[in-house]
Amino acid sequence: MKNGLPVVQVLAACCLIACSDSRDSAIGEPQDSGSAAEHAHGCSMSPSPAEVELTRWLVQRGAYEVDGHFDHFLEVDVAFHIVRRTNGSGGLDAGALDGDLADLNDAFESTGIRFERGTSVRYIDSDAFYFEIDTQAEIDALRSTSPVAGMINVYFTPNLANENYSLCGISSFTFSAVQGIVMNNSCSSSFGNHATLVHEFGHYFDLFHTHETAFGVECPDGSNCGQAGDLVCSTPADPNLSGQVSQCQYTGNATACGFPYEPQPSNYMSYAPISCRVRFRGGQRTRMLATLIQLRPGLIGSPGLQVTWVDFAASGAQTGSFANPYRTLAAGIAATGAGGRVVVKGPATTTYAPTILAEVTLDAFRGEVVIGD
Ligand SMILES: [Zn+2]
Repeated sequence: MKNGLPVVQVLAACCLIACSDSRDSAIGEPQDSGSAAEHAHGCSMSPSPAEVELTRWLVQRGAYEVDGHFDHFLEVDVAFHIVRRTNGSGGLDAGALDGDLADLNDAFESTGIRFERGTSVRYIDSDAFYFEIDTQAEIDALRSTSPVAGMINVYFTPNLANENYSLCGISSFTFSAVQGIVMNNSCSSSFGNHATLVHEFGHYFDLFHTHETAFGVECPDGSNCGQAGDLVCSTPADPNLSGQVSQCQYTGNATACGFPYEPQPSNYMSYAPISCRVRFRGGQRTRMLATLIQLRPGLIGSPGLQVTWVDFAASGAQTGSFANPYRTLAAGIAATGAGGRVVVKGPATTTYAPTILAEVTLDAFRGEVVIGD
């Protein structure tokens, strides 16, 4: 759009929303999976209503599709951080990280993504982080500590919880305000857990739980698999497997839409016991690969979808992300290269009429945006 006064349309407000929790980035995995402790999760594990809308928008824009096949691995650097006491003692044995990296590469091999250490182990010597992390704010403070740009930052700490329960691990979606993965030391591979870190990496590449209901309840007959549940059709509908799996077999008898569930406890993104979770399905692998290429392009030097967010009503930091949008169209356009897309959160009106020299697409999110007089 070179000179336009575009009226950009408009996504109807959706959605089926299963909860009204407003926290954005909590995607925790409870500690002691498979025990009674796991039954306590609530909505903090789900995308928020705003994130549900955003995800549907991204689906419409093709963000989770990838063309063709790569004949080589896409290599992604990981930065491991280990929390120790202020005096430098304690913390996860750094030798354990080899096992965690091996688990990741086993799980992601057929996805076409390979993880490598991008830097030597970073240590964070802090009694505050070492002895007590039990709020979302503290989790976010830890993963804001010395993150390495262009890498997936993974923090290991001995005491990890949010306001509601002890956590094995917690991750971030591409659109979460605070990025990074935090792991409880006791859920690392050296303690026999080969699933939780993989599960958190799944979230990091925008996979949802197989039992997710924020997009609506998925029917076991597959009839709404692309719009409900985890939005992935190759994972069967899942009623939430907490306490419903014995010897890696589903033991429940729940139904939905008039059909019995036939879930897969083997899926990394389920809540089956840790030892049962050993695979991703094809649709999950495609979604993760597309997320890497389109939405986390900084990890591989790809141009990606190049979405710059603008919200005239925003406050706070301005980075052009969904969580921290620019406040003016001019700033958004200035930050967007040729081929990029500037998206204004609607409904909104501005009399500013931009002059756009590069080939940039203007788009609206959630309501009509009127630009110019
Ligand atoms: Zn999870």
